Amino acid sequence: MSFDDLLKGYQSFRSGDFEAHKALFQKLVTEGQSPDVMMVSCCDSRVDPNMITQADPGSMFVVRNVANLVPPYKADGESHGTSAALEFAVCHLEVKHIIVMGHAHCGGIKALMSGDINKDTGGDFILPWMKAISEARKRVDRKFGQDSEERRVRELELEGVRVSLDNLMTFDWVRDRVNTGDLSIHGWFFDIEAGEVLALDQKTDQFASLSTEVN
Ligand SMILES: [Zn+2]
Repeated sequence: MSFDDLLKGYQSFRSGDFEAHKALFQKLVTEGQSPDVMMVSCCDSRVDPNMITQADPGSMFVVRNVANLVPPYKADGESHGTSAALEFAVCHLEVKHIIVMGHAHCGGIKALMSGDINKDTGGDFILPWMKAISEARKRVDRKFGQDSEERRVRELELEGVRVSLDNLMTFDWVRDRVNTGDLSIHGWFFDIEAGEVLALDQKTDQFASLSTEVN
């Protein structure tokens, strides 16, 4: 898709989807947004949270970052984009669910696993950002060191979701709401080829097909 195609897409949005959803957009302006769900997803262009969930405007608060990571709580006065998005979603919008969605063939995770990100190629920002899963990488190396790189990358993609869920609980205002039942956290994993979402069962710590049964 070229840049020109994007412009055509915008034209088609104006005359198509925007027209069709005009009333919704107006309502979201007059009443404001009150999404129930926040998603932490990867920047990867092949993973589109709204397409996967068919979420309409106003229904899902999304933050995307390299490798869909939630860093641990660190209030040091520096810039923390993902933590700021979490604070806004939880403390102000009062979302009821946070989903961390990993995905297959994650370039960030693959580069970390293969050592392609180093001081020269990603030392300013990517390497420090990926620190959140450097311990996870060591765990995967210990457990799956004899396996193929493909397997190790997949295990780290899954482990990254587990680590991010653990890190969510280092934010007091997340942990308190989870403990009172006002907030649920979920780990998902999107398999690009199959178009399938796997969900982490927090009791067994394993990923399995996401149940679409409505409670
Ligand atoms: Zn990714």
